[in-house]
Amino acid sequence: MTRPEPALHLKPAKDKSLQRRHPWVYAGAVERVSGKPAPGDTVRVLAADGRFLAHAAFSPSSVIRARVWTFDEAETVDAAFIAARVQAAVARREPLRDGSDALRLVFGEADALPGCIVDRYGAQLVVQCLSTGAERWRETIVDALVAATGCTAVYERSDASAREREGLALRTGPIRGEAPAPVPVVEHGVRYRVDVVGGHKTGFYIDQRDSRALVREHAAGRRVLNCFCYTGGFTLAARQGGAIEATSIDASAEALAMAQANERDNGFEAPSTWLQANVFDALKTLLAEGRRYDLIVLDPPKFAPSAQHVDAASRAYKEINLKALRLLAPGGLLFTFSCSGAIGADLFRRIVADAAVDAGVDAQLLRHLAAGIDHPMAITHPEGEYLKGLMLRRM
Ligand code: SAH
Repeated sequence: MTRPEPALHLKPAKDKSLQRRHPWVYAGAVERVSGKPAPGDTVRVLAADGRFLAHAAFSPSSVIRARVWTFDEAETVDAAFIAARVQAAVARREPLRDGSDALRLVFGEADALPGCIVDRYGAQLVVQCLSTGAERWRETIVDALVAATGCTAVYERSDASAREREGLALRTGPIRGEAPAPVPVVEHGVRYRVDVVGGHKTGFYIDQRDSRALVREHAAGRRVLNCFCYTGGFTLAARQGGAIEATSIDASAEALAMAQANERDNGFEAPSTWLQANVFDALKTLLAEGRRYDLIVLDPPKFAPSAQHVDAASRAYKEINLKALRLLAPGGLLFTFSCSGAIGADLFRRIVADAAVDAGVDAQLLRHLAAGIDHPMAITHPEGEYLKGLMLRRM
């Protein structure tokens, strides 16, 4: 006799979000668990009346108690299923390889592989397994990636805090090949070195690719200020686009060292200043000194890691935007971002509008910005939206 498949039985009326194909089952929706599943095991998610809703990966310590693999009862979640999902995600990125060899290949829920992130830098892959389900199928995922891409170097950066919420220890290191030295990539003609071992996330903010291209397009003849510059992504894009000078600020000495190495690799000639400083203080100083810029980028870290940080984060976003708007010369452009999932696009826009009012500056909204199209979101999973930005012009 086969053992009955483990199941999550939902409370009455708690099936609505799954009916709408939202891929998460919250702990509060679960009435009981049957069949003793281990973390990462596939469970059947059942409505209170016993109706089948989904096959999902079980995560006993997380408030997201299960993440859906499929809403189709007829499917079996096995190695072939996972491998096919990986292969499909990689195939969807194939047309996006033009112009850059840094690309997100797998983006979690958006690619129906919850908790699994894969980035490609040239021939180097970087994997993050951030859920029990991704952890359970880690070997299968890596084999499928190698098969689908032909890349033989795979490094793991499963060191994001999301893993702790899943009850998983952090883990980093090579899975295939050696730990790489900084990997050279070329994005729209600009060379960057990516530290996949010690850099942020998987080493580079691939998600800003389209916005870097937009900055490049508008940089000609402008004096540029790039705040929270990290390894120089926006600065070098602006210089490639013909910026006449650039000032870049970051608190991290390592990030600035890498940024300057990147700048040297490209051989740009216009004057460039790299400041190791707290942006909040530096903006005050630049204002006091009477400086003016024609293009400013504000791409700070996540000020609101969760909903309870929204008020403090809103004040911080407002402060930097207010100062940046004052530092802009008339006709100057502001590219301003928030990567806090807890700050929605509407709220962010209101914060920036408040900043303009308090700065006494009139500004036009030219564009809404978002992560590049290698970072899709599932339309039924609004939590997948994190990076939002605005392109403004000071009147
Ligand atoms: N704009 C970057 C990514 C920014 S990541 C890119 O496109 O690649 C956030 C950066 O802000 C990190 O490099 C971090 O060192 C820096 N940082 C965080 N808080 C800061 C502060 N208060 N002042 C200056 N830099 C800060």
